[in-house]
Amino acid sequence: MTLEERKVPCTWLDKPIQQFAEQMRGGTLPHAMLVCGARGIGKHQFVDRVVRLALCLAPVEDAACGECKACRLVEGGLHADLRYLQPEDKSTQIKIDAIRASAAFAAKSAFLGARKVVVISPADAMNINASNALLKTLEEPSLGTLLILMTDSLGGLLPTIRSRCQRVDLSGPTQDQAINWLQQMPAAKNLPADELALSLQLSQGAPFTALEYLDQNLIDEQKSMLAELAQVLKRTQPSTEAALHWSDEWIQYRLSWMIHWLEQAVRSSYSGNEKDIYLDTSRNMFSYIVNNAGLHSLFDLRDRCIKELRLLKGTSNPNKQLLWESLLSEWLQLMVKRR
Ligand SMILES: [Zn+2]
Repeated sequence: MTLEERKVPCTWLDKPIQQFAEQMRGGTLPHAMLVCGARGIGKHQFVDRVVRLALCLAPVEDAACGECKACRLVEGGLHADLRYLQPEDKSTQIKIDAIRASAAFAAKSAFLGARKVVVISPADAMNINASNALLKTLEEPSLGTLLILMTDSLGGLLPTIRSRCQRVDLSGPTQDQAINWLQQMPAAKNLPADELALSLQLSQGAPFTALEYLDQNLIDEQKSMLAELAQVLKRTQPSTEAALHWSDEWIQYRLSWMIHWLEQAVRSSYSGNEKDIYLDTSRNMFSYIVNNAGLHSLFDLRDRCIKELRLLKGTSNPNKQLLWESLLSEWLQLMVKRR
């Protein structure tokens, strides 16, 4: 995101920020916070505001002043009392050395203000050794250090870690808030409202994801993947070919799209409203599948896709081609009459 884009306020985060500010003023901040919520709703923006507020030397109401020495250091990425832990280059994991280093950092006194901040993002990227090391830090917290864990996959964290953090569940914007926010973004502001609405539907209301879809042309990509799926199901394209196409850099998106399509098909079957299937070109296909295979099979396939997505995001490195081929063979089974 550009600097200009980052400055567009996420108004739906005001309330949780206000709650954080109240805790700070009341001296009731926890040692560790676990910030969770769906991907693309603005967790990073929330944490960015929290970090600035926590380190600012002269906050103004619920916001950092933006002018003090601490604020300027945070802005320049130079604040000595702030650490970000992320997977290092090429790795998908946060490892024990990083956690140990942050524990040593937490044990020292603050350089500038009264507080130090450590952000772990995404927290589910910690491997088991790192998680156990963090657990020790959580059991014996250092005074004056605020630990912020971020995740959109709560299941990827040890229950013992989850229970030692104060949870902050962020929710996304309303449709109006999201459209309003998108209209202030250079990549989206000249697009018709119905296109913005479709991008929000396809991203399950997450505005940052919607923006990414618009920016990277991923709506067209999603449409062409769906068309390819239809070809496979009609047996006019071999599944190996589709599997090859889909094993690209967007594979995690593709799996989450597939999950979303299955959910739309189920929802539409319950509601009787075909508009619950957002991409109109696929409505006939999904109603055929529901009638043919029944809702249970769709639920099963959805669960399978969720499991594969979790594996893909996790530390294992599955064979992508085989993953798709196996999923597509389940799709093909949905086409065989069974009711
Ligand atoms: Zn400040």
